[in-house]
Amino acid sequence: MLTVSDLDFSYQMDGQRVGILNQVNFQIRRGEFVAIQGPSGSGKSTLFYILGCLLRPTSGKVSFEGADLSKLTGDQAAYLRNHKIGFIFQQFHLLPRATVLDNIMLAATYPMEMARSKQAAVERATRIAERLGLGDRLQHLPNQLSGGQQQRVAIARALMSDASLILADEPTGNLDSRNAAEILRIFDELHAQGRTIIIITHDSEVAQRCDRILTVRDGVVFGGGDPSAMLPDVGTSSAMAMPSNWSNSGLLLSIKALPGAVRNLIRNRTKSLLTMLGIIIGIAAVLAMISLGEFTKRRIMEGFEALGVNKLVVRGYPNWERKATDESMREFGGFKWDTDLKPLRRLFPEIHLLSPVLANWQNTVTAGGRSVSENVRLRGVNHEYAAITNIKMAEGRWLTPYHVDQRGLVCVLGSELATQLFQGLPSVGQMITVSVDAERSLPCRVIGVAMPQKTNQEWNRPNTQISVPYTLYQAVSSYGGSQMYQFAVQVRPDADVEKTGRKIKAYFEQRYGRSGRFMVDTEGTLVAQTKRFLNIFAILLAAIAFLSLLVGGIGIHNMMLVSVTERIKEIGLRKAVGATSRSIRLQILMESMALCAAAGVIGIGSGFAATELMIFGATKFVPKLKFEWVLDPFAMAIAVVSIFAVGMFSGMVPARRAERLQVIEALRAE
Ligand code: ADP
Ligand code: MG
Repeated sequence: MLTVSDLDFSYQMDGQRVGILNQVNFQIRRGEFVAIQGPSGSGKSTLFYILGCLLRPTSGKVSFEGADLSKLTGDQAAYLRNHKIGFIFQQFHLLPRATVLDNIMLAATYPMEMARSKQAAVERATRIAERLGLGDRLQHLPNQLSGGQQQRVAIARALMSDASLILADEPTGNLDSRNAAEILRIFDELHAQGRTIIIITHDSEVAQRCDRILTVRDGVVFGGGDPSAMLPDVGTSSAMAMPSNWSNSGLLLSIKALPGAVRNLIRNRTKSLLTMLGIIIGIAAVLAMISLGEFTKRRIMEGFEALGVNKLVVRGYPNWERKATDESMREFGGFKWDTDLKPLRRLFPEIHLLSPVLANWQNTVTAGGRSVSENVRLRGVNHEYAAITNIKMAEGRWLTPYHVDQRGLVCVLGSELATQLFQGLPSVGQMITVSVDAERSLPCRVIGVAMPQKTNQEWNRPNTQISVPYTLYQAVSSYGGSQMYQFAVQVRPDADVEKTGRKIKAYFEQRYGRSGRFMVDTEGTLVAQTKRFLNIFAILLAAIAFLSLLVGGIGIHNMMLVSVTERIKEIGLRKAVGATSRSIRLQILMESMALCAAAGVIGIGSGFAATELMIFGATKFVPKLKFEWVLDPFAMAIAVVSIFAVGMFSGMVPARRAERLQVIEALRAE
């Protein structure tokens, strides 16, 4: 079963080699009951670890059923330890917070790469426990058992996988003579069942009961017989072939590792909850801050759009500073509707609405003997102007194309002006007289009153204006006043206002050369600046939230690191009974992922609640703000991605550390 040839082993200590085992040669046949005896410190445990594939020899060869142990991959070694060898450690090495049943079943949960039925494992563990007299102790914890009982649990665990080789390191070393005799009786029984047993002991009485005694002294093993008389290896390394249900799928292993990870977190309830708090706050902050940032931005931008973001005003004036040498095809003396403005819509399809704007500054309005002149402005526009500047009607209606065509003697009043003139009495249908300049005045009928308008151009005074058809305005004005120097445009929602403005300007500059000067005003610039500011504001909010999430992540990272350090022994034991490095890594990773996921769900819930609460609070202070449910999918996505990122980030280093742990160092750790 086992062939050890020319085995050397030395520990590396402070750069120096300390030789422990020296030229060891022996063979163990199937079904033998062998004792390895020797004084304390002679290297018995070291040999035990080498035979159990937990430690690699410095040189020489150990073969198990014909397979060279030094040639096994990590996965193969894990499989071998799990299926072929049952370990019984001197210090029992039970999981302190797991029940007797769970301790016995430990080996059956590994290697995780193999599918196994839990039900069968429970049945088998119960049967073995009953045979070892532990039937009524299954739900006890190890510290509720006597030393002899603990050792029997360890033996039961070693028997779980029906191993053909039992390796026991001083199994009676920590027991009184009565318990020791009981344990030895169990070994006799196992031997009678045909198992190969190697007991390490320094007790001669124990050794006497075995078929054969190997003695280790000063690094040399006596009793192994003549090396040249050893039998050739039998069997092939195919004995170590992985079973066909061995799966390397990370996803599958993660799913299998999840219940254990959750159980572990629940076992450390208080610590887990405290650690989760950091992530809960972090995720809640990220969700709330991003949602609120987006909410504020949208609200402010909506306000801008109500004022007409997609509006632009084009102004053109004759160029008085033109030099005599500047010649041009056409002279600019104001825009002409038929030749300048009408074709624009065809040239620039992004223009949605277009209206000439003729404006006068100082006007006086008279109606029924009452006169108003403060801030009153007369403007000549067309039927599209109301839509361009978002004028809504409070009473009556806006100018129609018919009015514009026929120079109708009609007007629409700004809300403030209507109140001043008619003092709350109905104004639609009334006649008013507007002074156009010193000589001329214009009588017209009020057909509508506009709603009060907000503007961020206070000088514009939209609420004290009188709008008349521009054709009428031109007809009653002096020559200079009838020239059209301005027009307003609304572009289609998907078009770029500033770009359209530049194109229109370029068009007129080309058309009129240096005879005119053209300017474009848009609110687009202001809007763009505000948008930029709001974006910075939102990013700042989110950055602060992410910082708090980072702090939470560091918290989890710390806890996982501490937890790995605390559980070094446990991890070593899990590896010894057949956990592959990969499954240990995934197990730790799943713990941090599970922690983050739980914290994330609570965090998303509280972040959402916080957002709604803040919006609700804001509606109490800002009367115009209506409460609404905001579920920002972008913020949600960021929150979910963050949870996974933090889980990975905080679990990665501890998981790597756990994966790299050397079984021996881990088992020996205090
Ligand atoms: P035994 O089990 O026979 O009492 P061990 O195999 O545990 O002896 O140890 C053999 C020798 O190796 C001892 O002298 C011990 O001090 C030394 N030793 C054990 N582990 C280490 C280690 N990790 N590094 C250096 N020396 C070690
Ligand atoms: Mg020892």
